[in-house]
Amino acid sequence: MQFAKRLERIPPYLFVEIDRKRAQLLARGVDIINLGVGDPDKPTPTAIREAMHEAIEDPATHNYPPYQGIREFREAAIAWMERRFGVGGLDPDREAIASIGSKEAIHNTFLAFVDPGDCTLIPDPGYPVYRTATLFAGGEPYAMPLKAENGFLPDLTAIPETVARRAKLLWVNYPNNPTGAVAPLAFFEKLVAFCRDYEILLCHDHAYSEVGYDGYRAPSVLQVPGAKEVAIEFHSLSKSYNMTGWRIGFVVGAAIGIKGLSQVKSNVDSGAFKAIQRAAIAAFSTPEAEVQAVMSVYQQRRDFIVAGLQELGWPLAAPQATLYVWAAVPPGYTSSEFANLLLDRCGIVVPPGNGYGAAGEGFFRIALTVSQERMAAALDRMKAAGIRYERSLKSSG
Ligand SMILES: *Cc1c(COP(=O)(O)O)cnc(C)c1O
Repeated sequence: MQFAKRLERIPPYLFVEIDRKRAQLLARGVDIINLGVGDPDKPTPTAIREAMHEAIEDPATHNYPPYQGIREFREAAIAWMERRFGVGGLDPDREAIASIGSKEAIHNTFLAFVDPGDCTLIPDPGYPVYRTATLFAGGEPYAMPLKAENGFLPDLTAIPETVARRAKLLWVNYPNNPTGAVAPLAFFEKLVAFCRDYEILLCHDHAYSEVGYDGYRAPSVLQVPGAKEVAIEFHSLSKSYNMTGWRIGFVVGAAIGIKGLSQVKSNVDSGAFKAIQRAAIAAFSTPEAEVQAVMSVYQQRRDFIVAGLQELGWPLAAPQATLYVWAAVPPGYTSSEFANLLLDRCGIVVPPGNGYGAAGEGFFRIALTVSQERMAAALDRMKAAGIRYERSLKSSG
């Protein structure tokens, strides 16, 4: 039996080698410190869990949900958009839809808009789904490199005219996974103008909208005047409220984007569990102080790991947002070589930067979803193994 051609076009999973090694070390009884996973380690806030208990006892939540999401959920989502970003006037019927987590909605948006031969403009490094969903749809991904010297923002002037003309979708994600970079509203203004000129649907993946530090509050692309004609924004409750397992998010913005996505989804899935949508409504009214309390835990870990790596010679600035520290590998190493070194010598798992795209080469990612104690243990092991930023370790073994 052969897989479909479309599956053969999907690139091999880059972490396969690391996973294999990790399994070997685990079998030998090595205590592995996983600094890799972007999955919050704390429970979902109590008020949300209580709303779920209540909702699940109501038989009205037990049957098929409406495809676009229950109306109360969509209304709560757009009310939150207005409170949080000052983005008012979204139509709950034409400009909002519930998702079964952002990943699903992201993938299905490609199916709605990309034909074979169409181009998609995607960030490199970036969330892997943008690339794989392009390939599933038969399209051609065009990587926009995110370079440190540009603050990890794509350079729109570097996109060839012929590519821009063939592009259907342009994807960005700020605060950014994996680089931890943030984008100012002025950059979103440029994106909106670019996408209007070339008739491209601008897709902003806002998975980390609430994950900010030192008072940083990320803007919405829909704050740009006129953005609603060309842009849709993907929101997720996963990272904001420790709800990765619940699978709930929403998409708002350009009616054409919502319509296309809705048409795919109504043929693919049957909506998010209504009880989860009710619990998510409770999440939208989580007191700001409680959200900030969750973020302050990550902020302390960020300060701890950044200071620890700086002490080991790393040239590093603390990210203002996201669950990630994006660090350069020491001179003389590729991303994979360094990730393997950390695993072999220290039992530490980190994803190599090239796992997020070719332009991620030269970096590795650390997630802030592990306790400070485990981070301290990881730094101690690096110290003991003599792993520092400056020195090339290759010769020693
Ligand atoms: C985690 C993540 C998502 C997926 O979020 P879900 O709502 O849990 O599917 C999407 N985009 C980026 C950049 C992410 O890091």
